Amino acid sequence: MTADPAGVSFGERMATVEFRVAGNAHITVDADVCASCTTRECVTACPANLFAETADGGILFNYEQCFECGTCYMVCNKEGAISWSYPQGGYGVVFRRG
Ligand code: SF4
Ligand code: SF4
Repeated sequence: MTADPAGVSFGERMATVEFRVAGNAHITVDADVCASCTTRECVTACPANLFAETADGGILFNYEQCFECGTCYMVCNKEGAISWSYPQGGYGVVFRRG
């Protein structure tokens, strides 16, 4: 895995973050809307790499390691593709010291 300019790999950075995963997703992605998206901004913009293109042109999304930064919602140019909210109280990202 590649390291950033500070010499810290993506995996090492992710390992410094703890998540309390809620049973229900706080972000959902509408595959029908995404099917006509040719730009796929979410895939390159999500800092946690939670969006992935599938071989058949779909989008795979996993909410469990979400930083709650809102970037995907901001960069997506398709109305209704992403439904975004914060996780329910007590769940979500918990930063801890590296
Ligand atoms: S979430 Fe938005 S940017 Fe990502 S594939 Fe769907 S429509 Fe495109
Ligand atoms: S809120 Fe941020 S970390 Fe979570 S899925 Fe969107 S871009 Fe990725």
